[in-house]
Amino acid sequence: MTENTYDTIIIGGGPGGLSSGIYAKRAALNVLLIEKGVLGGQIVNSDEVENYLGFEHIGGAELSMKFGQHAQTYDLDIVSREVAEIIPGADFHTVKLANGDTYRTCSIIMAMGGNPRKLDIPGESEYYGKGVSYCAVCDGFFFRNKTVMVIGGGDTAAEEALYLSKLAKKVYLAHRRDALRASMILQQRIFSECKIEMLWNTIPTGILAEADGVSSVALQDTVTGDKQEMPVDGAFIFIGFEPSNQLVPAGVKMTAEGYVVTDEKCETSIPGIFAIGDLMEKYARQIITAAADGCTAALAAAHYVEAKKSSDECHLE
Ligand code: NAP
Repeated sequence: MTENTYDTIIIGGGPGGLSSGIYAKRAALNVLLIEKGVLGGQIVNSDEVENYLGFEHIGGAELSMKFGQHAQTYDLDIVSREVAEIIPGADFHTVKLANGDTYRTCSIIMAMGGNPRKLDIPGESEYYGKGVSYCAVCDGFFFRNKTVMVIGGGDTAAEEALYLSKLAKKVYLAHRRDALRASMILQQRIFSECKIEMLWNTIPTGILAEADGVSSVALQDTVTGDKQEMPVDGAFIFIGFEPSNQLVPAGVKMTAEGYVVTDEKCETSIPGIFAIGDLMEKYARQIITAAADGCTAALAAAHYVEAKKSSDECHLE
């Protein structure tokens, strides 16, 4: 078991975590970033990004790689491990890893993001990887010239339906209402793509499969109650997002939906513990807002660490 000490520990290596790493290093903090998967966050799975300032058009994987490379030019200390627990303390906080290693730190920036929301209908988990998917970029290739259904009405569903329309023979886009939530520019693209057919006021009630994978989706009309089975080869589910809040320590204020409540410095209800990006309660969950949160939290953490040290409360050496 190792025990190390830091000014700030960042948990999560998406755009928010990496941006906070850069700002924390520039503020001369002794900083550690912990990421259990690959650096770059959810955008690794995005086909194209067109709204990140400075890049008219860039692949999600390429942009996430650039984020990681930029952070590494600051010699950011990164460990590829799973965090098991965050233990708040009056003088310092503790981060415990799943392998038993323990780190003491003045401040923590939680940047754990979130995961795709599940429909929780029969067949969804059973046929995951056999035609049920939450990532068109990862799995779309297997559906070339096939028929797929995308479920959802937000930006993600619209973007992924457009991506799939480049590969598949036909894309049904099933949405539970009669208007999309997605941005206007995406809606215009959806409505002008002849391979995409809208299924309005439609919810899936089950996913059915045969030996070689998904064969159809059972649907219900939310207005008439009519039921039908639509033959498809794949079901791509994009119905939103759930914050990864399992590590958020007791005592941190959260919304009913599980997002962490912060002040304008991204600080939570526990002093010295910050939350950023998709994990925090906020209006817009975008790559650029996650990166901006990372900046805010790191600058605020630097200020917090300095104040703690000058009051002699956080001398961890
Ligand atoms: P979202 O905006 O929350 O949309 C989720 C969609 O799924 C909504 O249309 C919702 O219907 C539908 N839905 C939710 N639960 C459902 C259920 N149980 N059954 C059927 N349908 C259900 O999620 P998102 O599209 O993943 O986007 C998340 C955030 O990331 C948003 O802020 C979005 O703007 C952002 N984003 C931005 C970009 C971009 O700018 N390029 C790309 C992707 C995501 P209702 O509309 O009826 O609620």
